Amino acid sequence: MSDPFASGWGAGPKPGPGAAASPRLLLRRLRQALAAPGDGQQRLDQIVTLIAHSMAAEVCSVYLIRGQDTLQLSATEGLKAEAVHEARLKIGEGLVGVIARDGRPVVTAKAREHPEFRYLPETGEERYSSFLGVPIQKLGRTMGVLVVQNERPLNYSEEESEALSLVAMVIAEMAEAGTLLTNATGEGEHHSREPIHIQAQGAADGVAIGPAHLHEPKLLLPNPIAEDPAHERARLQDALGRLRADIDAMLDGDGVADEGEHREVLETYRMFANDRGWVRKLNEYIVSGLTAEAAVDAARTEARAKLRGAHDAYLRERFDDMDDIAQRLMRRLITPDADAAMPATGAILVARTLGPGEIMDYPRGLLGGIVLEEGAISSHAAIVARAMDVPLIVQAGGITREAETGDPMIVNGDQGHVHIRPREDVVTAYEEKLSLRAQEKATFAALRDLPSRTLDGCDVTLYMNGGLVADLPSLDESGAEGVGLLRTELHFMLNKAMPTREDQARFYGHVLDKADGRLVNFRTLDIGSDKVLPYLKQPREENPALGWRAIRVGLDRPVVLRMQLQAMLRAAAGRPLRVMFPMVAAFAEFEKARGMLLEEAEKVDAEMRPESLKIGAMLETPSLAFAQRRFFEMADFVSIGGNDLVQFFFAADRTNERTAGRYEVTHPAFLSLVRMIVERCGEAGTELSFCGEAAGRPLDALALSAMGIRALSMRPASIGPVKRALRAADLAALYAVAEDAEASGQRVRDALIQHCHENMVPI
Ligand code: PEP
Ligand code: MG
Repeated sequence: MSDPFASGWGAGPKPGPGAAASPRLLLRRLRQALAAPGDGQQRLDQIVTLIAHSMAAEVCSVYLIRGQDTLQLSATEGLKAEAVHEARLKIGEGLVGVIARDGRPVVTAKAREHPEFRYLPETGEERYSSFLGVPIQKLGRTMGVLVVQNERPLNYSEEESEALSLVAMVIAEMAEAGTLLTNATGEGEHHSREPIHIQAQGAADGVAIGPAHLHEPKLLLPNPIAEDPAHERARLQDALGRLRADIDAMLDGDGVADEGEHREVLETYRMFANDRGWVRKLNEYIVSGLTAEAAVDAARTEARAKLRGAHDAYLRERFDDMDDIAQRLMRRLITPDADAAMPATGAILVARTLGPGEIMDYPRGLLGGIVLEEGAISSHAAIVARAMDVPLIVQAGGITREAETGDPMIVNGDQGHVHIRPREDVVTAYEEKLSLRAQEKATFAALRDLPSRTLDGCDVTLYMNGGLVADLPSLDESGAEGVGLLRTELHFMLNKAMPTREDQARFYGHVLDKADGRLVNFRTLDIGSDKVLPYLKQPREENPALGWRAIRVGLDRPVVLRMQLQAMLRAAAGRPLRVMFPMVAAFAEFEKARGMLLEEAEKVDAEMRPESLKIGAMLETPSLAFAQRRFFEMADFVSIGGNDLVQFFFAADRTNERTAGRYEVTHPAFLSLVRMIVERCGEAGTELSFCGEAAGRPLDALALSAMGIRALSMRPASIGPVKRALRAADLAALYAVAEDAEASGQRVRDALIQHCHENMVPI
């Protein structure tokens, strides 16, 4: 950046006292002024005076955003003093409103002729012809607008616009740090502290009240203006050096010895960390007077502003990478507050997005709830949250912007409500809800040891789904009869590198110990699609849900599968062992995988062989329901993976929030499929269970049981509600209701709900 201040400000007719001030000098003056005691308003007043003088401008004003859509004149040099806090514009209204809306500067020598001009009579601005306004923004969030005006029609230069933007960035940093815009009455805070309600989507049930905790703490820059550029340059160099060394170390480490997505990402990071254009830009900001961290932030803000409105997915992705690398550099420049690292017990974790591994990094019982700006209901992160019994909200737009660590929050995972800084009456209502829930929990606890037998005498065995060591205490608490689905990939996801055979055997052995003779269905590694292991090479695919995943990977990469089978056999060490393979689409796949397991079992010393070995398949693709009879005869057991089966049956992506939840298991077409599977398993004498999420929803569980399913596996927290519903239900009656509804064209789900209400079946 050339020095826009070096040649004096504007072609103004009456240069002010600081007309030849360089941006660095201006920033230094700003810093000195701001170091003096004073409230937010006094500081703003000092800023506008300083800028007006330095730029030989007759007017300098700051407009700040108030509430959702209003800009308020908050300080001015040159306009009428009585208009301060009175003059208001809507975002999008007038030149100032347009700058706030578009996040881009506006410059004109003849403001009155500009199509967007709107005159505010209370300010007395009609005299001023030339106008230069820039947004006050930080990382895509506009906080206000900074304006200079002159009477004579002047053409402000691009350098002047850039320099004013630099000052606006400093104002934004100060606003973010809270050092600037609060006054004695608390008015003038940089963003709303009002109660906010966001209607999003519930992905894991439950209600929680607790303080917000930002997963990525906002890095506040205590002081964006530097004293000594040489020192700042050295700090930047040092931080860049450490960043590059860390990326190199990650790339050379054992964890990413294979190629794959993770390596690609790191390679991209390395490229950006060495990008000369970026480093030059950072140094230019430092020369202008910013600290190293403010320079990094300013470059991010500028890039974000440029990208605003860009629809090119590739560009956006590159930008996200760039943004991430900037954040990493920032963390090497600012020591984060150590206390902020761990949330308080019961805190509500707020993040843009989280992977399952990141959720598992938090100890069980610590988090009260999780709210994500992105994410999907059927994602693996959601499954982990449900397994950990933590309410989860996804698609909560604006949450990372609106919530601050420590803000009181309420999450309602049942209905997708999020309340930030809730009003007292809302808190009271939720406290009542929580106490009701505690009572319900006590009811379910009382059911724990009672059989799940329906009114017409059908026993439906209830198992739990698991995958984490932290799940296992639930076996006893919930009264589950065993683990109907052990998702082994969760253990893999938890690890930074492929777990060794010994690691795996230890984990599986621990599960069997805790199960203490109860049934455990170990499912072999089910990766691909939304389940990604960063250390395992996985090609980029157009349709990953239909791609190289689950047993397909296992059969093509038998080393990994065999190692896992060996670990299971080793863990069983003479005890009964049940293993099932995920996403089997064709009999031949099952036959082959089963053959591998039998071969591995043969290799085990006779006395250490499992007491019994049952081999099953997950039925998750419609094709397997139509497999030859031999399949059903060969499989010891079949478990319907309803999440995937619904996805493939209805061709509806389970991870896309537009399609997930659109189709339900009570759809008559799906119920027919279930009936058919029940019949085919019955004919061949094959054990059958259902282990998708639907098994844990009382109404769905009743419908599936009515179709003849006699074993359901679900997250532990669902066992109580499902058992309560089953104990009050008559499956034969429910079957008849479904059949009648289907025949008469009534929506089956509605008919089932009506029946349950009429017969006091709690669903
Ligand atoms: C399923 O698809 O229903 C299932 C249980 O497997 P996952 O959800 O782990 O894919
Ligand atoms: Mg599945």
